Amino acid sequence: MRALLALALLALGACATTAERAPRWSIVVHGGAGVIERANLTPDLEAQYRAAMQRALTTGGGVLERGGSSIDAVEAVIREMEDDPLFNAGRGAVFTAEGRNELDASIMDGRTRAAGSVAGLTRTRHPISAARAVMERSRHVMLVGEGAEAFARSHNLEEVDPSYFFTERRWQQLEENLRRNNLPVPRRPANAPPAPRAELTYPDDHQFGTVGVVALDSQGNIAAGTSTGGTTAKRWGRVGDAPIIGAGTYAQNGVCGVSATGTGEFFIRVGVARDICARMQFNGESAQEASDAVIAEVGATTNTSNEAGDGGVIVLDGRGQVAWAMNTPGMYRASQTAGGQPVIQIFADEQ
Ligand code: ASP
Repeated sequence: MRALLALALLALGACATTAERAPRWSIVVHGGAGVIERANLTPDLEAQYRAAMQRALTTGGGVLERGGSSIDAVEAVIREMEDDPLFNAGRGAVFTAEGRNELDASIMDGRTRAAGSVAGLTRTRHPISAARAVMERSRHVMLVGEGAEAFARSHNLEEVDPSYFFTERRWQQLEENLRRNNLPVPRRPANAPPAPRAELTYPDDHQFGTVGVVALDSQGNIAAGTSTGGTTAKRWGRVGDAPIIGAGTYAQNGVCGVSATGTGEFFIRVGVARDICARMQFNGESAQEASDAVIAEVGATTNTSNEAGDGGVIVLDGRGQVAWAMNTPGMYRASQTAGGQPVIQIFADEQ
């Protein structure tokens, strides 16, 4: 009898330790992956990115600490990042070959596996809120172009003049890209600020900067969201993985939450976000094992130009443990759990 009692107490103790180990809330954020190298990033720009990642943790962590939902945390952080010209989402988005900003976003609620996404928006200030409206106020999952914009308008989401999204840095990246590919450079968009007299040079001249957030709240609900301007000089209504549920974004309570960034075509073909969750759910892989394996698959996939897939993912498991993986030199990323210290990293080799 005594032995049985001792065993029961031991089991209870083990449960308590396990419960203690699961954080009350947890959040992980990315600001895009790509050729982010120390030599290309001035100390000033690096400090700006690190500060932006800290702001994201403060905003999202604040919502979760107050007992807010993971969906609210994801939306609040992404809205802030969409307003930040550092990132390729909302203001600061890259340009299409025609000189427009076409914005894509998606969001998913792991509690019910409800999801919403939008693609090709040109006027809605916060595409992530449009995606959330699709999830919560329609019977649909994905709306594109004019129709998506009309839907957002009908739900009173803020609209801006398309020039709101313009940044000189992204415009110059477009010009450089089109010249390199012998394509015509479109006229500067209407209402854009006048071209600077001297050509500006940006130390960081790549096209990354998609944003994504995964959060676990104190109710045990996981949510994930992603927002992007896509890839520089995209044409023909090209849409990447960010608004594709199962590719760029996925969330399922008790299993995982994922947001991806990288060359979207490969992430769609590999089905990155859902594949990571499936490996965790059915193979019992950890978030880290599943992320590493799926990013390796992306890197082993090639396209008609024989280019291989590149990018990264941020992941939470069902209990809020954080993982990330990338096959690029860097990914802006940050995480925090209740009561823990913030972790902010940029380069792939940072520990
Ligand atoms: N995944 C995005 C897209 O393909 C771009 C990125 O994450 O950099 O549209």
